[in-house]
Amino acid sequence: MDGKAYVASLDDGRSVYARGEKVSDLAAHPDFAPNIERTRHTYDRFEADPAAREAFFTPPTTVEGMREHASLHVDSATHTTYSSLMTLLTAADRIAEVRPSASEAVQAYVREVRAKDWRIAECITDAKGDRSKPPSQQDDKDAYLRVVERRPDGVVIRGAKLHISLAASSHELMVIPTKAMKPGEEDYAIACAVPVNAPGVSIVNVLNGAPPEGSDPRDFPFANQRAVPQGFVIFDDVFVPQERIFLDGEVKQAATFAHSLGLWVRTSSMISMCDGFDVMVGLAQLIAEANGLERVEHIKTKISEMVIHATLLRASLEASMMHAAKLESGVLAPSEIYTNAGKYHGAANYMLMVRHLLDIAGGSAITAPSMRDIENEDIGHLVRKYMGTKQSIDGAYRTRLFHAVHDLTTSAQGGSKYAGLLLSGGGLYAQNIVTRMRYDMDRAKQMAFDAMGWSPDDPGAIRP
Ligand SMILES: Cc1cc2nc3c(=O)[nH]c(=O)nc-3n(C[C@H](O)[C@H](O)[C@H](O)COP(=O)(O)OP(=O)(O)OC[C@H]3O[C@@H](n4cnc5c(N)ncnc54)[C@H](O)[C@@H]3O)c2cc1C
Repeated sequence: MDGKAYVASLDDGRSVYARGEKVSDLAAHPDFAPNIERTRHTYDRFEADPAAREAFFTPPTTVEGMREHASLHVDSATHTTYSSLMTLLTAADRIAEVRPSASEAVQAYVREVRAKDWRIAECITDAKGDRSKPPSQQDDKDAYLRVVERRPDGVVIRGAKLHISLAASSHELMVIPTKAMKPGEEDYAIACAVPVNAPGVSIVNVLNGAPPEGSDPRDFPFANQRAVPQGFVIFDDVFVPQERIFLDGEVKQAATFAHSLGLWVRTSSMISMCDGFDVMVGLAQLIAEANGLERVEHIKTKISEMVIHATLLRASLEASMMHAAKLESGVLAPSEIYTNAGKYHGAANYMLMVRHLLDIAGGSAITAPSMRDIENEDIGHLVRKYMGTKQSIDGAYRTRLFHAVHDLTTSAQGGSKYAGLLLSGGGLYAQNIVTRMRYDMDRAKQMAFDAMGWSPDDPGAIRP
């Protein structure tokens, strides 16, 4: 598809809600238009350069390929589609033993998605009801998405998936269990693909991190590019044909998809966090220079701390690629331990970056007048005069830097960004578990004994 065909393809009868109303023209709606426009742009770019499309979507088989992929900048929907395809391919390898047909179904589906040039949204997080109880013991049995009917030609599913980024402007919903399931929870062990416009699917949206309505785009440089509609996706008895089912009842493998997805989503998240941290360092340096403080010791120390944090995060990303595991299909999957430890460390310490950036910038980071005030005929010249710091630093320039700091840290966009870093791809706890699982604890224990000069078999003995 080119961009025009993509926009036209969204007019397919899908049931989308926003601001309390049903949306009739998605591409024209202010909550969706900016993201649709960005995705349209990627379609046009790939249409003009099919080799770039191939390079982006082809699963990496070399570390250089992974690195090249990490350096390609595309819109979020296209990124999500890539991580969905990689999730399915990775999981298919892993579940082939319990469901041999899954591998074939996944391969066929991936081929179809590529041929039709669709975009996929990732539907994992269930409503979950009472968090202390498993799916089968919930008061409302639909708290986790489940199969409510099995027919010879497919299944009927019911439930809801929450916080689904860009669901409304995608073509397909990749539906997978959010967690491991136990015997007795077979109906919840369902993974499948559902078209966004399938009968029974409704998506209620909230635009996350949007700039205030009517604001000057120059005052919100990030919110204007990055506000994302999050979908509350309801599956009200949706029929899924056999060929689109990847798991149905195999409880042992219910978590396989979520684990695979976690890896690819956290890798994507790390890539964007690495770039984001460099942006924050650059902004801290620019604002320090604009304030005339770039040579002051405590400012330099704070920027150095930010640099160290950004560099260690990039080192984790590099390590995740250098230690990538080769799947049976030959595809390289980033190392789980480096991806999860890096994602955890970056997200858990994100506020250090925010703290230093705000501390370096000063109060104007949240009180700088609008660019429209600077252009006001009566007062603008005075605002500009007092926002300037010296001959080489114009007030308008410094004001725009403050707006960028504000929008990265304390605006609705800044807050959403932080929540997204912490929670998307599973909360910090999820990364905590995987890192610990992949860590070689026996080796660490042995090293501890060695360092103390003990033999674990004979604690009384002293080794030379
Ligand atoms: C911006 C954004 C984008 C997102 N995009 C997507 C998306 O595209 N697709 C998708 O599927 N999901 C998406 N998510 C959802 C995200 O993965 C979840 O928010 C995350 O997994 C946490 O789940 P929850 O929000 O239901 O919170 P909860 O599960 O309620 O978790 C809240 C806290 O309770 C803890 N907790 C929960 N249950 C237990 C338990 N049984 N025992 C101990 N501790 C527990 C958690 O560890 C966490 O600390 C997105 C989230 C955000 C914020």
